[in-house]
Amino acid sequence: MDCRASRRGFLLGVSGFASTSVTAGVVDRPGLPASGGLARVQGRLIAPRKVLLWESTRKEIREAIEAGRLKAAIVPTGSTEQHNEHLAMIQDTASAVLVAQQAALQLWPQVTVATPVAVGISPYWMERPGTLTLRPETFLAMVYDICDSLRQHGLKTIFIVNGHGGNAKPLKDHMAEFRSKLGVNIDACSYWDAFAEAASREEAEEYMETGVENIPGHSAEFETSFALAAFPERVHRDGVDYEKLRMKFKDRKDAGDDRRYYLESLKACAEKGEALIRITVDWLADRLRRMIAAS
Ligand SMILES: [Zn+2]
Repeated sequence: MDCRASRRGFLLGVSGFASTSVTAGVVDRPGLPASGGLARVQGRLIAPRKVLLWESTRKEIREAIEAGRLKAAIVPTGSTEQHNEHLAMIQDTASAVLVAQQAALQLWPQVTVATPVAVGISPYWMERPGTLTLRPETFLAMVYDICDSLRQHGLKTIFIVNGHGGNAKPLKDHMAEFRSKLGVNIDACSYWDAFAEAASREEAEEYMETGVENIPGHSAEFETSFALAAFPERVHRDGVDYEKLRMKFKDRKDAGDDRRYYLESLKACAEKGEALIRITVDWLADRLRRMIAAS
């Protein structure tokens, strides 16, 4: 019996968001590090887990800090919420972790990705079963405490990379307060802010059939393409039938939007997702590179 192989199969079968989204989900995708394999970074081969704080050992993190190699941390924030009939609830968290990991690999060995905040501020989706939501003060307190922990280990640059719309404004609104209380170089963005920049927007136009104004949208062309590229095992169209779907919404408009997003998601494909992820990751890495240089 090959113990190593059977163990590996078990881990993939468990499908924890952390392990599959950031490693197994990117198997053999051009431009992304192969799962379980190695990522080519600046001509060197690196195990992708090495930029994930929760997959690192105390020895690895301690030595990186002591040697002055580790200069910054990314704190991914997401949600566990309904993503229409066909995407997994963890979509936003898994997406934030994935782009954070890819950006950290570009900046190896300077950046570690902290454990994500996997539940966000989603009260407006509570009508849809499965959604979990935090009160804004709970969410912000969690993010703050994670940043404060990183600060206590000597990290002076912290970049919050958000993957869920409901978290965006509360994070932005509290950055000045976080900065003055923590005394570190801290900033927050939502990963799709990449497409607010003219160059990325123009490039994305080539891939978004429903239009760049629909980035990020909700479970539509953008997010579904993202999932098909990064973690196709989280796209489940089997048995989805909008002709038979009888969900009750308080607001009639919600039913129309829900259906429209699903129909738009049918325009998604892995190739679009790969291109959109590449644009996002380059933009994130560039921002973080400039933050580190300024610290
Ligand atoms: Zn989403």
